[in-house]
Amino acid sequence: MRFVDEYRDPALARALSAEIHGLAAGRETVRIMEVCGGHTHTIYRHGLEDLLPPEVELVHGPGCPVCVIPMGRVDDAIAIAEHEGVTLATFGDMMRVPGGRGTLLEAKARGADVRMVYSPLDALALARREPDRHVCFFAIGFETTAPATAVTLRRARDLGMTNFSVFCNHVLIEPPLRAILETPGLRVDAFIGPGHVSSVIGSDRYRFIPQQFGRPIVVSAFEPVDLLQAIAMLLRQRSEGRCEVENQYTRVVRQEGNPRALEAIAETMEEREDFEWRGLGTLPRSALRLRTPFAAWDAETLFALPGARIEDPRACRCGEVLTGQLKPWECGVFGTACTPERPLGTCMVSSEGACAAYYAYGRARHAPAELPARA
Ligand code: SF4
Repeated sequence: MRFVDEYRDPALARALSAEIHGLAAGRETVRIMEVCGGHTHTIYRHGLEDLLPPEVELVHGPGCPVCVIPMGRVDDAIAIAEHEGVTLATFGDMMRVPGGRGTLLEAKARGADVRMVYSPLDALALARREPDRHVCFFAIGFETTAPATAVTLRRARDLGMTNFSVFCNHVLIEPPLRAILETPGLRVDAFIGPGHVSSVIGSDRYRFIPQQFGRPIVVSAFEPVDLLQAIAMLLRQRSEGRCEVENQYTRVVRQEGNPRALEAIAETMEEREDFEWRGLGTLPRSALRLRTPFAAWDAETLFALPGARIEDPRACRCGEVLTGQLKPWECGVFGTACTPERPLGTCMVSSEGACAAYYAYGRARHAPAELPARA
């Protein structure tokens, strides 16, 4: 397929694999965290672990937007959806994330009007088609998806919409990375930086990682050859005694990011004082809320929300998976009480979740022998 084949070329992949083996031979094991769930998905879909030497270990990071949403925010969304005359619009994955009162899909089964959309502009179009209903968009995601929400808010303002709002849950990538880097006993030696987020914020934003924490980072695209090249670049830095930010995804990511996208975010949103993350606790200045001029479209202003903090189920170990401390198959309920059909934790919901990626592609290799075979 044009534009993709060259990034899935077996000969290129084998050459990079050979280079990685050469760079790793005789050296200490290096633990590399792929920050983005999209990378996790590629790694297991294409079996990249099989191309790496034992001295290179991949661990998963917090960059799956669905996975980091805490149960309390799901309950808030359910509360909005249960209002008379309100339609809650959100991405398909979000409908299956468990909260304290079940999922949005279950709320829909009880009679709430919950609908799946592909973008915030779809939700706005829904509001224009159905002027007798109030449509609230449940916005999630890192800086990657925040610009689309920002553009939608501008459009809602320009159209003078009175039956549309946004429940803003956009989060920022730097605070969870800092939290992971400040974890006592951290066992991550290097990072593969998220490609999509970086296309908005730029690669320069990661300078604090080598400068303050002494770890290299390479921003990477999402195809197998991209990821192998990023791993080779990290190992080359180690061999040459360098520790810096490098950009493998030069076809999309610029050092300074995307100024127009950043401008749209800055006009419509500002940092919250704090925000609860699944598995990471409450992190200061780690998420976005709508700015005061957009209060007329802010669901947190328009609706009374429970705002409760709800503990994850005791068996759920998503927090450790999201911070690279645990591999999915090491969670006691992986593939048994927690499956993509009936997820207990968020990492099993989205295809970008590490547990879902292992379940779909890697469990034959890692899962306990007693697990049933996939149909
Ligand atoms: Fe969370 Fe389920 Fe993964 Fe366990 S198997 S860490 S409960 S998503």
